[in-house]
Amino acid sequence: MLHATEPRKLKVPAGKSTLVLDDITEVASKLQDFDQHEQVWLGRDAERGLTAIAAIHNTALGPGLGGTRVWPHESFEAALTDALRLSRGMTYKSAVAGMPFGGAKAVIVADAKTDKTPELLSAYADMLAALEGQFYTGEDVGLTVADADFLRERTPNVTGTTKGGSGNPSPVTAHGVFLGIKAALKQQRGPGDLVGVRIAVQGLGSVGWALCEELHGEGAKLIVADIDAQRVERAASEFGATPVATDAIIAAEADVFAPCALGGVVSEATIPTLKAAIVAGAANNPLARHEDARRLMERGILYAPDYVINAGGLINVAAELAPGGYDRAATMTKVAAIPVTLSAIFERAQAQGRPTNDVAAEIAMERIEKAKARPA
Ligand code: NAD
Repeated sequence: MLHATEPRKLKVPAGKSTLVLDDITEVASKLQDFDQHEQVWLGRDAERGLTAIAAIHNTALGPGLGGTRVWPHESFEAALTDALRLSRGMTYKSAVAGMPFGGAKAVIVADAKTDKTPELLSAYADMLAALEGQFYTGEDVGLTVADADFLRERTPNVTGTTKGGSGNPSPVTAHGVFLGIKAALKQQRGPGDLVGVRIAVQGLGSVGWALCEELHGEGAKLIVADIDAQRVERAASEFGATPVATDAIIAAEADVFAPCALGGVVSEATIPTLKAAIVAGAANNPLARHEDARRLMERGILYAPDYVINAGGLINVAAELAPGGYDRAATMTKVAAIPVTLSAIFERAQAQGRPTNDVAAEIAMERIEKAKARPA
């Protein structure tokens, strides 16, 4: 178990707050997933039930931007690892999408269904207010638009809100994934439509459901799984989807496997079971380890790097922070560039015989290094 030793305190907002905010960068640096993160903060409020970690990975391109995940991690270490991995992904996501933001992410260790009280959220708003200037956040798993609106009333560094105009990012993320799946199919099969293409969607939440709507609209055959049986039943009746067990979806007889639940599902253990020739979905960190992309490549499976294909949500929330405010048309133009970027990655990866996630990371690093080299 890790402990925040000799924490460095950050000022919490004026007035009475029971929040304690500690700099745990030093503690985090002991973990395998630490990757030169600039700062990691632990916010605790015993009275209001908050334990939250905000990881700021890299701000070379701008202030850290990344959603807040509400999840009951089994340990503090697991939550910290999640924050470290997710924030690093955001750095790459912003860089590849050409956004003027750095990478950051927060996790609130709580069950979104039972623990997410107004008190907890108000404590979290205090934490965000203290981090203003270095961290902007919005929705992720377990944090809704209503929650973002609640936080935004208390602190300005919240996006993805009703007032800010961008609202729920999930349909925009789903649209980017939809376009990305088409780009992956084109790469492997040449031009064609989606009619009869079998797509296994793991997770029918905000993004997975919206993705199914678009795929179904163009004639794809859906195979679905979710731990929520009602969503599966609805997908079967609305889209004619074929339900499978949650532990069988990854090995389903499909052309595309679209992970849209949590991370780590594509691993050394599951890759040999995959029948799909493409892995392309919304989930962050679907690969258990970076080298799993090489394992996929060696099996001839095309992998659409997560932070490239799922950047639609980021593009949408970032648009709210642009000078002049949210512009839907400009946002959707940027989302339409996702398949173009993906195709360029697929081409470079194929030409050089390298895994697609290495090529995507290289493009992100090129952009970050260029920004660092620019005079301030
Ligand atoms: P969500 O919470 O709305 O949906 C997740 C769904 O997955 C739920 O329906 C849940 O029941 C289901 N699920 C959980 N465990 C499962 C399992 N073992 N098998 C099958 N289903 C399972 O979340 P979301 O907003 O749709 O996000 C989905 C993924 O996409 C996450 O990894 C998230 O980080 C990523 N993502 C989301 C956005 C966005 O705009 N919402 C943007 C980028 C990336």
